[in-house]
Amino acid sequence: MSLAKRNAVVTGSTSGIGLAYARALAAEGANVVINGFGDKDAIEKERSGIEKDFGVKCLYDGADMSKPAEIAAMVGAAEKALGSVDVLVNNAGIQFVSPVEDFPIEKWDQIIAINLSSAFHTIRAATPGMKARKWGRIINTASAHSLVASPFKSAYVSAKHGIAGLTKTVALEVATFGVTVNCISPGYVWTPLVEKQIPDTMKARNMTKEQVMNDVLLAAQPTKQFVTVEQVAALAVFLCSDAASQITGANISMDGGWTAA
Ligand code: NAD
Repeated sequence: MSLAKRNAVVTGSTSGIGLAYARALAAEGANVVINGFGDKDAIEKERSGIEKDFGVKCLYDGADMSKPAEIAAMVGAAEKALGSVDVLVNNAGIQFVSPVEDFPIEKWDQIIAINLSSAFHTIRAATPGMKARKWGRIINTASAHSLVASPFKSAYVSAKHGIAGLTKTVALEVATFGVTVNCISPGYVWTPLVEKQIPDTMKARNMTKEQVMNDVLLAAQPTKQFVTVEQVAALAVFLCSDAASQITGANISMDGGWTAA
């Protein structure tokens, strides 16, 4: 229970990687604030499930990560309700794929807001408390796309490169306050979002499920295996440990070798 008495906020944690972070931090004894969109009953089931499974407090905050005032209010409410925000995981993210000349301006703005600016706003709100208490862990979910590009993902790749820069900058600013700031850069992670793309791609390309997985989704991933959400979450838990106190400003790949190529 390495995180007993710590309080964590995980953005975009009603599904996928974010939910795995929230559960893994709670398993180590942290109280958690989960955030994100989705069906009200399903979210309540996840929230109460975390409390029941791990004996911690779990609160839900529906702040929209594209709205700076809601983001600041979420961090303030978490500090008020739990006493502090010691672990901040910036994870909310969306994707949109289009040639740059057709990329809808509002989609560009939305991706930059949710995938990049939201982390600035949470960090801005949470760092004063972390610095005052001389302990904090900020973990940003970047992506292999923080290091390399793919065509048609201009906003996503720009936002992810941006979050890698934000990570390094804030790490330097808070280095002497016991606060570390890192990003995790997964390759393809097996989430419901990825799984749902398979039937359509099978139809569109007249491929079997195995062909879609190996030749399309995992084309860039040398291990030919998906990363799991539990693996990403386990790295976040490690980054919260004392053993990781000298890891800061790092961009840690977990991509089956993608960015080695
Ligand atoms: P997901 O769609 O399962 O989860 C995204 C979460 O963000 C959900 O909880 C959703 O409700 C929330 N969200 C979306 N817009 C929001 C908003 N405006 N305000 C608040 N919450 C919002 O996706 P995922 O695959 O788990 O992705 C999580 C993060 O991991 C993203 O930042 C993504 O870019 C990154 N990532 C994913 C992969 C992958 O292969 N799945 C790979 C690398 C990086």
